Amino acid sequence: MEVHEVALTISAVAPKQYPKEDLPEIALAGRSNVGKSSLINTLINRRSYARTSSQPGKTQTLNFYKVESQLYFVDVPGYGFAKVSKKAREEFGQMIETYLSTRRQLHGVIQLVDARHDPSDDDVTMHEWLAYYDIPLLVVATKSDKIARGKWNQSESRIRKGLNMQPDEPYIQFSAETKTGKDAVWQWIEQQAEL
Ligand code: GDP
Repeated sequence: MEVHEVALTISAVAPKQYPKEDLPEIALAGRSNVGKSSLINTLINRRSYARTSSQPGKTQTLNFYKVESQLYFVDVPGYGFAKVSKKAREEFGQMIETYLSTRRQLHGVIQLVDARHDPSDDDVTMHEWLAYYDIPLLVVATKSDKIARGKWNQSESRIRKGLNMQPDEPYIQFSAETKTGKDAVWQWIEQQAEL
């Protein structure tokens, strides 16, 4: 999709604040600093529309970006479970769980992991959680420009193994620097959102 129009529609913590419209939603989730804002900005052709580097422990909201009046990207706050208090962790978990388990408009979730590293325990937990809810799931490996192309297969195998992915689960190498994977990610989104 060639994006010209995008708006931060709402930052929500509770279901009553979610958008009232019936547009398809694609959620994006990953650890803080994984490159989520950079992926969103790449998809919508902006330099710095989505906020970058949201810190764990700060106010956590679901940010709904309306794209071309056709769908919403839902920016799920970066998880960094180890760094926040038990209470914050529980609140975060509840907010996300409520959204994922009740949102009829949710058509798919993109889980971001860093191509350079083995998935963390938090990544594994998140993946299990998403699989449990049976929501179409795409794993995107970010910052692929930081590893040599010759190592991409190795990186993919490590991540697939770490996340216990089935062979048919989709996986895309991405880089916000080189835009590698941008079209493939859009293709998946358009398919899930039935655009
Ligand atoms: P967020 O916290 O998940 O939203 O992560 P950001 O998008 O703010 O990115 C965190 C840091 O990683 C920033 O310094 C980005 O410039 C950098 N970064 C994000 N994506 C890429 C990428 O594809 N390649 C490289 N080399 N750096 C990236």
